[in-house]
Amino acid sequence: MGFPKIRMRRLRSSDSMRRLVRQTALSVDDLVYPLFVREGKGLKAPIKTMTDCFHFSPDTIAAEAVEVASLRIPAVLLFGLPGKKDDIGSQAWAEDGVVQRSIKEIKKAAPQLLVITDVCLCEYTDHGHCGVIKACPERSRENGKIDNDPTCELLAKTALSHAQAGADIVAPSDMMDGRVGYIREALEENGFENVAIMSYAAKYASAFYGPFRDAAESAPAFGDRRSYQMDTPNSDQAMAEIALDIEEGADIVMVKPALAYLDIIHRAKQRFDCPLAAYNVSGEYMMVSCAADAGLLDKKATLLELLTAIKRAGADIVITYFAKEAAKLLLG
Ligand SMILES: [Zn+2]
Repeated sequence: MGFPKIRMRRLRSSDSMRRLVRQTALSVDDLVYPLFVREGKGLKAPIKTMTDCFHFSPDTIAAEAVEVASLRIPAVLLFGLPGKKDDIGSQAWAEDGVVQRSIKEIKKAAPQLLVITDVCLCEYTDHGHCGVIKACPERSRENGKIDNDPTCELLAKTALSHAQAGADIVAPSDMMDGRVGYIREALEENGFENVAIMSYAAKYASAFYGPFRDAAESAPAFGDRRSYQMDTPNSDQAMAEIALDIEEGADIVMVKPALAYLDIIHRAKQRFDCPLAAYNVSGEYMMVSCAADAGLLDKKATLLELLTAIKRAGADIVITYFAKEAAKLLLG
């Protein structure tokens, strides 16, 4: 049976009809808002490379968290910029570190707001890599490579320090092998069995991170991250990465970036029962912001379309710099 008995336009004939048959509903409940906190006092400094995004300090982050919570956004994702960096990133797990203090401030001001913390070393190391560097004799093939297992131990220490400060969810973004297992073990051993892990399971070496690297001041001083982050053309490896992270104890798995990787999100959702997050990254955000500023795109319509598309592909959770704007639109 086909045309004229079947007319697809019947179900698009009015707003009510379209609402009735709509399959995907983007909700404020799906959103996570990333926040950057740096050492300092009284800061709310615009990030040059990211429109409407700011660097906060631990004493100003609470007010922002209260605003986020008032928009009914369930969670923030915290990134820290320390006062000083070193070769192993020791400020990452410092008890009085910038993230650790900020977690406490947020929890005091907005206890219902979930605090997710990015767990990585790249903002804390003076070389900007996500792990510690192997120092080997000159001309060794291993020289200058990122040392996997010692890095995992430091990541576990970092995650534990976030849990001790009050984080609800820790989110390792480094792409070392086995780090979720190390973190799960450290949390279990120290009485934080209820702290969840959201792993950046399939994180690709992407050009779309450009604006973020200035926001987090974490560009590598040499080389790139291709020996640990995933290679764009690969899809099977993403499934293997996700499966391993779930096996090691991840509660939520993530695909990053989102828009150029909707096929990965879709495939992951078909295959795994675990809640799936997608990170709508800084480059994706700024493409829309810049095009809107240039008068080429309707920003509100575009951002809702993109976030809905990420959800339609299969994401349960969308991490986005548009979260506040989207929440205002969704709450009307
Ligand atoms: Zn990193």
